[in-house]
Amino acid sequence: MRFTRRALGATAFAATMLAAPAFAQQSGTVGIAMPTKSSARWIADGENMVTRFQEAGYATDLQYAEDDIPNQLAQIENMITKGVDALVIAAIDGTTLTNALANAAALDIPVVAYDRLIRDSGDVDYYATFDNFQVGVQQANTLVQGLEERFPDADTWNVELFGGSPDDNNAYFFYDGAMSVLQPLIDEGRITIPSGQTGMDTVGTLRWDGSVAQARMDNLLSANYTGDRTIHGVLSPYDGLSIGIISSLKGLGYGTGDTAMPIVTGQDAEIPSVKAILRGDQYSTIFKDTRQLAEVTVGMVDALLQGGEPEINDTETYDNGVKVVPAYLLEPQPVTQENWEEVLVGSGYYSKDQVE
Ligand code: BGC
Repeated sequence: MRFTRRALGATAFAATMLAAPAFAQQSGTVGIAMPTKSSARWIADGENMVTRFQEAGYATDLQYAEDDIPNQLAQIENMITKGVDALVIAAIDGTTLTNALANAAALDIPVVAYDRLIRDSGDVDYYATFDNFQVGVQQANTLVQGLEERFPDADTWNVELFGGSPDDNNAYFFYDGAMSVLQPLIDEGRITIPSGQTGMDTVGTLRWDGSVAQARMDNLLSANYTGDRTIHGVLSPYDGLSIGIISSLKGLGYGTGDTAMPIVTGQDAEIPSVKAILRGDQYSTIFKDTRQLAEVTVGMVDALLQGGEPEINDTETYDNGVKVVPAYLLEPQPVTQENWEEVLVGSGYYSKDQVE
């Protein structure tokens, strides 16, 4: 069935190539389901994709679901009913779309999982993302680099761990990547986790919610950092969590007087967090160039609809429980005070004025 549509796509493509000026109107409509507008990165993802799809001659139907699972499901079902030609989905909960995607497959609508893997479905055709394990490695590497710089004389570094949303497959990759760096240091005693809280089932943060992270940090500090014990570092997997974590730390006087600010990591290079890095409140973030992700995704969809082969560079890592989804992984980049200008301004992602 799917083959038929792709073959038809190729025929339509050949026909429109003959009538070149009409091409832009005839390539089809792509439904884009994004999780939330509460984080700037997803807004940039949506905008970049709309621009790129339009350049490639596609119309788009872009929807945000404000982190509400039934809302996202309804949006996707609606796109299918309206007859989109392809779906690009950044899932809120990667396990809740199985039936909707079966409906899409029955109508031969190809599906690209965007940034987050869609699990428990054989109807996910491709996956465009970053090297998520590497994101975690980079977060932990910058954490250790910061600890060495700011607390060179500590007998052991007191660190607490935060994970992302347990319903987001990426959260496990970030955590596992980070622990591949941190676990040996914990085993050696170089790092101590005073709360003893480790493992995604304990340190995960549902829906990537910054206020949940802030409340957990408050509890960790009051329960484990009494007397002379201070905290030196916090593994945070996302800028929005780091903001909550930093508020909690500042509320207890960290970053003032003799009490140094702990090293706090992040992800997404969102502007408020880049500003926090420049102020010294946050130590690092991870830049994931959403322009590149949009480009890869549009290339995949275009190939699927025009009868071509999407470009992939990974056929092993992303088993969604039903199949290994062929993927294209982009390279993330760590950002600190040392390189923010080169990475974020030099690449044209932000202007200097936006950040300073
Ligand atoms: C993305 C991260 C983002 C997080 C929270 C993850 O799936 O890969 O870039 O920080 O969701 O939005």
